[in-house]
Amino acid sequence: MAEPVAFIGLGNMGAPMSARLVRAGYRVRGFDLSPDARQALADAGGTAARDLADAVRGASVVVLMLPNSAVVAATVHDGQFVVEPGTIVVDMSSSEPLRTRALAAELADRGVTLVDAPVSGGVSRARSGELTIMTGGEPADLARVEPLLAHLGTTTRAGAVGSGHAVKALNNLVSATHLLVTSEAILAGERFGLDPRTMLSIFNSSSGRSGSTENKWPNFILPGTYDSGFGLRLMLKDMRIATGLADQVGAPDPLGHAATELWARAAEALEDAADHTEIVTWLRKDRS
Ligand code: NAD
Repeated sequence: MAEPVAFIGLGNMGAPMSARLVRAGYRVRGFDLSPDARQALADAGGTAARDLADAVRGASVVVLMLPNSAVVAATVHDGQFVVEPGTIVVDMSSSEPLRTRALAAELADRGVTLVDAPVSGGVSRARSGELTIMTGGEPADLARVEPLLAHLGTTTRAGAVGSGHAVKALNNLVSATHLLVTSEAILAGERFGLDPRTMLSIFNSSSGRSGSTENKWPNFILPGTYDSGFGLRLMLKDMRIATGLADQVGAPDPLGHAATELWARAAEALEDAADHTEIVTWLRKDRS
């Protein structure tokens, strides 16, 4: 029987990820503010903890899959977060790299190790265990959690603690900017009289190909379902982390800032729960 794992944050991503760990034989004790999310873990064969203290008690590994750094810090600082020295905390959320480093240093004083292991791939690849996982931490610490991460996807070591979070945010800045410009191009083509499906097929065998043309447009936008499972506000959070990082290190990022500003306007206009693929509906309305 594999070691006991606490899993905090059982949302769109945390639910399928924790369920995979259960199926792999881990004793998963999970907690989420949402009773429905806790029940879903119990239905998947895990244990729904009453509260945070109940979830982390006796766990040698604590996985966090929470909305952002503020929630991660609040969780770790919660009086209920009582873990033994030697415990390893794996922050798989898309958090802020500099806050991750600070939190890791603080936890180290308590004898607790923090590594970052954010993911890319979305809900479907969380279900199939084919996530791209980018990790930050000391090699020996990462080696401790890699067998567990192997049940969730393929891991690449990015560097010291915080490095996974840095590359994750930068990836999403690229991805969001692709999606926006792809959508602008397809809407322009449509008005010219082109069929979006034909355009996508040509983009996909040309240099305009991206995750937006291969996945997001055909699977969530053309069918009009807008159900990728990744919220627009979460995407905007990642873009802000990435442009903030570029500013902190003095890297040029005029396009990143422009794209982030447009996504922020979409976030203001769309409802709170909007999927990130709904950027297209905002774009259509913005020009109608
Ligand atoms: P989500 O909003 O579906 O899930 C977050 C969960 O955290 C919710 O169930 C919420 O109830 C819970 N939660 C919030 N505060 C809590 C607290 N204090 N204690 C316990 N539970 C709490 O979000 P998600 O889509 O699962 O994303 C989680 C993280 O993964 C985010 O950082 C996101 O940016 C990242 N991410 C998401 C995707 C995606 O496709 N959805 C892909 C890659 C990375």
